[in-house]
Amino acid sequence: MNTPDSLELRRRATSNEKPHQKFVFSFTEGDGKNKQLLGGKGANLCEMTQIGLNVPPGFVISTEACLGYLADPTNQLQEGILAEVMEHMYEVEQAAEKTFGDPENPLLVSVRSGSALSMPGMMDTILNLGLNKKTLQGLIAQTGNERFCYDAYRRFIQLFGKVALGVPDEKFDIIFESVKQKAGVKLDIGLHTENLKEISQQFLDVVKEHTGKPFPEDVYAQLEIAIKAVFNSWMGKRAIDYRREFNITPQMANGTAVNVVAMVFGNMGNDSATGVAFTRDPGTGENILFGEYLVNAQGEDVVAGIRTPKAVSQLKDEMPALYHQLEELREKLEEHYKEVQDFEFTIEKGTLYCLQTRNGKMNATAMVRTSVEMVKEKLIARQDALLRLKPGMLEQLLHPRLDSLHKSQPLAQGLPASPGAASGQCVFDADRAELLGRSGHKVILVREETKPEDIHGFFASQGILTSRGGKTSHAAVVARGMGKPCVAGAEGIHVDVKLRQAVIGERILHEGDFITIDGGTGYVYQGIIPTVEPIFSDELKTLLQWADEVAQLKVMANADTPAAAQKALNYGAMGIGLCRTERMFNAPDRLPIVVEMILATTEEERLVALSQLLPIQRQDFKDILTSMAPRPVTIRLLDPPIHEFLPKEEELREELVHLRHLKDTASGVHNLFNSLRLLHAYDENAKSPIPFNEKGIELIDQAIVKKEQMLKKVHDLYEVNPMLGHRGVRLGLTYPEIYKMQIQAILEAATECQEANIDVRPEIMVPQVCNVEELTTVRGYVEEIKQRIEKERGLKLAFKFGTMIEVVRACVTADELAQEAEFFSFGTNDLTQATFSFSREDAENKFLPLYAEKNILHDNPFEILDIAGVGKLMRFAVELGRKINPDLKVGICGEHGGQPDSIQFCHKLGLTYVSCSGPRVPVARLAAAHAKLGEAKNSSL
Ligand code: PEP
Ligand code: MG
Repeated sequence: MNTPDSLELRRRATSNEKPHQKFVFSFTEGDGKNKQLLGGKGANLCEMTQIGLNVPPGFVISTEACLGYLADPTNQLQEGILAEVMEHMYEVEQAAEKTFGDPENPLLVSVRSGSALSMPGMMDTILNLGLNKKTLQGLIAQTGNERFCYDAYRRFIQLFGKVALGVPDEKFDIIFESVKQKAGVKLDIGLHTENLKEISQQFLDVVKEHTGKPFPEDVYAQLEIAIKAVFNSWMGKRAIDYRREFNITPQMANGTAVNVVAMVFGNMGNDSATGVAFTRDPGTGENILFGEYLVNAQGEDVVAGIRTPKAVSQLKDEMPALYHQLEELREKLEEHYKEVQDFEFTIEKGTLYCLQTRNGKMNATAMVRTSVEMVKEKLIARQDALLRLKPGMLEQLLHPRLDSLHKSQPLAQGLPASPGAASGQCVFDADRAELLGRSGHKVILVREETKPEDIHGFFASQGILTSRGGKTSHAAVVARGMGKPCVAGAEGIHVDVKLRQAVIGERILHEGDFITIDGGTGYVYQGIIPTVEPIFSDELKTLLQWADEVAQLKVMANADTPAAAQKALNYGAMGIGLCRTERMFNAPDRLPIVVEMILATTEEERLVALSQLLPIQRQDFKDILTSMAPRPVTIRLLDPPIHEFLPKEEELREELVHLRHLKDTASGVHNLFNSLRLLHAYDENAKSPIPFNEKGIELIDQAIVKKEQMLKKVHDLYEVNPMLGHRGVRLGLTYPEIYKMQIQAILEAATECQEANIDVRPEIMVPQVCNVEELTTVRGYVEEIKQRIEKERGLKLAFKFGTMIEVVRACVTADELAQEAEFFSFGTNDLTQATFSFSREDAENKFLPLYAEKNILHDNPFEILDIAGVGKLMRFAVELGRKINPDLKVGICGEHGGQPDSIQFCHKLGLTYVSCSGPRVPVARLAAAHAKLGEAKNSSL
């Protein structure tokens, strides 16, 4: 049927007859796989319709239309789009048996955003579009439910007013609250028709006052404005912030589609309801229907957390037949999508509709469990189970939990909405959270409920606490996606943003007070509660075992002590790729010996100190080798400049000033004692204690001499640029006795293990090598010590000798180095500094953030391997090295060894292993499997 509105629009739209690109696709025709064109939601609505789910009729306006519109300086939709919209509206009218703008039998639609990647709540949506004064009366006549219709009307005016016409939300909220107060009503549901009528009229007045024009009555004008508003929301602040935070590039999602869908109502009475559900529990991964619903309510009520909804399991009692249909829907969805789904449903007068579905966002625990269970249920293959989990996500599993021994009583309880525990200072709005979080404070964002515009506060907070809303409220969904703890709907908390406080019964929490939230139980505590390390679940063990079976790269850990080695083993490390021996020197029982060694002025003096260090190092190596047996352990000879073991010059000067003062005071007190004795004014037997006697003064003198020696040494060791100076192998060649002691300690530890029949695999690694002669010389030390031990102990030592590659010259002369080394290990921390000529500390503080902002250097090269530069050098080194020794073992032990993208590159380079800090080992194991599985896709290096 043609209304006057539609005729006008059709005339406008068809005034130019040129053929045009197709921008609009009905749900029955759109390609459900083409998310780039139709957005995730639109593509899914097409797919859902086409697999026979009960989806309300509708159509999608493509992301291409969005980009065209955003590029148009005159803010017009591209030519032909409105005509296409008209044709599809006609189809929807046919399917719904209602007509848009018809006062007798009006069709209402929702206008929803949806880009290729899900960005929950970041863009705009308008519901109940098509209502005006005339259609409102038609709807009332049709439903016989005046209250419901006015409720829909006031919601529409507010949403349209805010999103499409830019009227501030507060203006509506003030009216709404004042009418509620006047009517003496607490909950929205308690408002009568008359109240809603009054609210609607006042809302219309506010729109007119704010925009200078009456609220649009022409339904097609409403539709056109709404489509443009949704397109505009792609460039809204929240959406831009979200894309930046999650690194969503235009290749991943470019523009939003608009979905126009016939409205169905969950608020048509007690046989109607609306809800959000997951096909499995997104917090634990358990295979149960999980979700929440509200009877006689509209979808936004559940998502915004305005009323606290009921668990979906209660629907079994309330509407058993519909619960059964919901279970069937759950099965159909998983069977088709082979993935956990997060779907919205509405029951309108006893009929179940599925409004949207998307892959469920889950925390890492749930992802791991569902991955393993879906394989066991034969829903997916092992390979899919590995690939559906982003490696970085596993870091969430390493989040601490509350120490179960704590005795604190909770202040309040809400719903356990996103697991993990966090402590921080309360803040009551997102801007403050951002401000404090950025300045290094740990904060918990405490809100009545959160909205998409609070997103920057989420980024800055350790966790989120809300006093309203359920497990599918905005706060819960976003926190889960970010892997941050969240307690939602803690109704005992009254948040007062203006006074910057929250009241819980008798207690008041002020901004800045510390609280702890436990997103696994929903408890909220005052103060900071200690946390404990998480335990590996059986499912995670299984999954990582599958990963190891697939992966080509081995995953080692960087660990410097026997305790760290043991931990790394628990994370599944296949060996130690880097043991930094200098870290063993820092322990309090060793540092004084190391200082003696540094202060030594002759080789003899140095040997005395080294002979004390030898047994300590030997024992450490023995412990590490034994705990890792039969896995390889790569031990790096001393690397940092030795001044690092001495105090700083200013410290020493200050200490010397104090010591000299102390000496004066001690001498003065000593004199006083003597004088008193001469005057017989003092007990002859009383002795002045240290340091106020001769012994004391002597000790102070000794301390002064020592500190002066140290100060002189600090001066002698001074270097303008120590990181490019006397360190690594350069140091080892200057003081060969240091390296020789370390080599002896390693080989003697190996000897003792071999003698005890422990199958150990030590590897001696030389740092900072730039020239093959350096390596040849150190190898000479190794040979000499090895032969001596073998002769003395009558055995053959099994070990490897190799070098780090962390200097540019080492990369380009790798063929020469491979003559001497049995393995290479890329030290990409130093290699990155050397390649860029950036000092890491200065770069990260001073200009890398600006480089990222201006897209000069998108990623921090110290976190994500710079493939174009550092990567090229690595490739060169691997090729040169393997030309000499095709079996050359090559690994990486810089921080990049635990970063998934960098691991993928290492795989492509054909490295033997990656080595990273212990807690990143699980991430690296999964990333190594991903790299192998993605091989076919990314075969060009
Ligand atoms: C490196 O340079 O990458 C490395 C592992 O050595 P360090 O970080 O100890 O300098
Ligand atoms: Mg280094």
